[in-house]
Amino acid sequence: MLQFRGNQLTSAAEVLMADFGLKEAVASGDTPTLLSAINNHRTRIGADAFIVMDTNGHLLASTLGTLSAGTRSDLQELVTSDSDAEPLRLYRLIEGRPYQIVLAPVLAPDPIGWMGIAFALDDRLATYMARVLGVDVSFVTTGAGTTVNVASSLGAARRSALASAAQGPVATPFFIKTGDDKFLTWANPIRSNNGRLTLVLQRSMSQALRPYELLRQSILAIGAAALAAACVLGALLARSVTRPMDALTQAAERLEAGDYSVNVPPASTTELSRLASAFNAMRTAVADREVTIRHQALHDGLTQLPMLARMSEILQELLLRANRIDQPLTVCLIEIQQFQDIIASLGHAAGDGVLWEVAQRLSAGSATAERVARMATDQFLVVLESVSAAQARAQAERIAERLRAAFDYSGVSLQLETRVGVAVFPDDGALPSELLQRAELALYRAKESGATVGVFVHGDDESHRHRLAILGQLRGAIASDQLQLYYQPKVDLRSGRVVGCEALVRWNHPDKGIIPPNDFIPHAERTGMIRFLTAWVLSSAVRQLRSWKEAGIELDVSVNVSPTDLVDPDFADSLTLLLAQTGADAAHLILEVTESAAMKDLHNTLRVMEQLRVLGIRFSIDDFGTGYSSLAHLKRLPVDEIKIDRSFIQELEARPDDDVVVRSTINLGHALGLKVVAEGVEIPACFDALTRFGCDLVQGYLVAKPMPATEFTRWANARGSESSDREPGRRDGRGSIHAPG
Ligand code: C2E
Ligand code: CA
Ligand code: CA
Repeated sequence: MLQFRGNQLTSAAEVLMADFGLKEAVASGDTPTLLSAINNHRTRIGADAFIVMDTNGHLLASTLGTLSAGTRSDLQELVTSDSDAEPLRLYRLIEGRPYQIVLAPVLAPDPIGWMGIAFALDDRLATYMARVLGVDVSFVTTGAGTTVNVASSLGAARRSALASAAQGPVATPFFIKTGDDKFLTWANPIRSNNGRLTLVLQRSMSQALRPYELLRQSILAIGAAALAAACVLGALLARSVTRPMDALTQAAERLEAGDYSVNVPPASTTELSRLASAFNAMRTAVADREVTIRHQALHDGLTQLPMLARMSEILQELLLRANRIDQPLTVCLIEIQQFQDIIASLGHAAGDGVLWEVAQRLSAGSATAERVARMATDQFLVVLESVSAAQARAQAERIAERLRAAFDYSGVSLQLETRVGVAVFPDDGALPSELLQRAELALYRAKESGATVGVFVHGDDESHRHRLAILGQLRGAIASDQLQLYYQPKVDLRSGRVVGCEALVRWNHPDKGIIPPNDFIPHAERTGMIRFLTAWVLSSAVRQLRSWKEAGIELDVSVNVSPTDLVDPDFADSLTLLLAQTGADAAHLILEVTESAAMKDLHNTLRVMEQLRVLGIRFSIDDFGTGYSSLAHLKRLPVDEIKIDRSFIQELEARPDDDVVVRSTINLGHALGLKVVAEGVEIPACFDALTRFGCDLVQGYLVAKPMPATEFTRWANARGSESSDREPGRRDGRGSIHAPG
């Protein structure tokens, strides 16, 4: 633009130089004429200043008025240095203000002077240029010293920073901050010989960015609107989700609390309705499973009968009803006898078979479901509604009778003996726990008395507690020699002589008197105290054996040992030691073992037995016939003797003709090469029958009751001398003791 204006000035100057009037005025040298002429021309061409000089550069006239000496000499220097008289185009400071100036000679035709036409680089030009260019334009003049002159399209307020803009990097855009606005600035010096002139172009950033600002605002507005819309939509959506979710959560909470009846309403969205139906399916599954788990927890897996916990619930309800309708109720606690023996002899499968059969028979006998329960391994409970104390015993007998009927287990015919404990509501108790505990005591009473059915008798619990207290003293009793051995003779049926005896323990309680072994042996076996008891019994029996030997009495002594003794790894060693210490003859010691005890841990028992047999100790199978062991097993045991159980002998006494069992047992024993002993012989008829059958030995009250050692020795001696007075061959069982000398 400045270049263009330069051209314009030049052509204007050229036109003026041809102007005759002007030439004349210059030539006249008359300043007022000259001044009016140049003023006219200046206005015509729109220049800001018009200067006329003579050929030597002296000022003739100026539209700027009188010029300073500095300006004048500056102009003079310009003119005089222009040797070729061609027009000069340049930027120049006149009186400190910037101008674009054309200096040209006035030719007529020789030079008669110089004229200078100038356009000011002022606010007007800057504003004009700014309008055309679309950026703010400023001319910054740095004169001598630090005086700064500014012409600018900018308002006065914004010019302050321009001085520093002129100092900025050349032709490289940079930012200037002015007030609250920022300007993108571009500065370039304009060549001028008498001072620094800088062109500064600026663009207000706020203006430049205004369109974008608008855009930004609309984007923000649109964004905000979209966000609001999304929120509303989201809330609506959330409501449609949360309501079914709430229903689900509530249902889950009720489910957690154990309420399985909740049904989740179908939800609107597919996912949620699938979730809801999955939830419902889960609820049913969980409910089903809980029913199953509950059933499994409360019922026996084998028999499917309720167990104690469930039975207590049932009993609770039944008792409430019985109380309401004023009716009695009877509970029968049934225990299978020798259940452990069945397992030991025939295996666990047989045990399961027995339990299942018992459950079947008991359930079949009960009209209502859930009146039969399995209480423990070998115990069942039957609840009889409206059965009074008067009828209870008969009913219990009937149950035992039903269970006694033989049943077949894989070829073996089993006959189950049971004992039943009976307790009746309201006489014996009003609470399930009370009734059950009393039925237990009644069962205990049955076992003790050997009866099938035991009925609870008031005071039983008191005496039971008492007995338990006494049992607690057993250990001390062993230590403080309250125990005593009684000896019961064994007589040889052929010779009639007393050949041996069985050692039977008694507890001589300081307050209670003599306590029979059945009252504490089972307890000692349960608590493991039997080891100490057996040790004590063996020790005194072996010592007795030795003192008899010293007295010249030759007798076998039988000692009862428990199943736990036989699997005790120390048992054989301590017995060996005992024999060595006492110097007793092992060949006179017989250990009595029940067959089921031997079967319980056959492997270990056999080892112990073999070890002791080497010493000369013999073994006898006690209570033979009551167990369930097979002949095959029996053959494997290294025994020398069997003792036919009392119950068979008593049956023989009741019906001496019905001799099949006893006789065949004797034959069986002999076939296996064993001595056969009959125990519990009370009457001579039985004695005779046994003699006929070829039984080897008898033991029983008929011969003598068990008695203390001293008494036994006395008895045996008396009997020996009595017998020697009699004729030999007498067969009344009163044989003689072999007393040499
Ligand atoms: P058991 O080994 O079968 O002992 C025979 C039991 O029958 C003894 O009872 C004896 O007094 C009794 N008895 C003997 N003859 C007759 C008779 O003619 N009629 C009747 N009705 N009974 C007769 P006891 O002494 O009360 O012993 C009971 C059970 O206690 C014994 O049965 C035995 O299993 C156990 N026992 C006794 N002493 C000991 C012992 O020192 N150690 C161990 N482990 N058990 C023992
Ligand atoms: Ca015995
Ligand atoms: Ca026995």
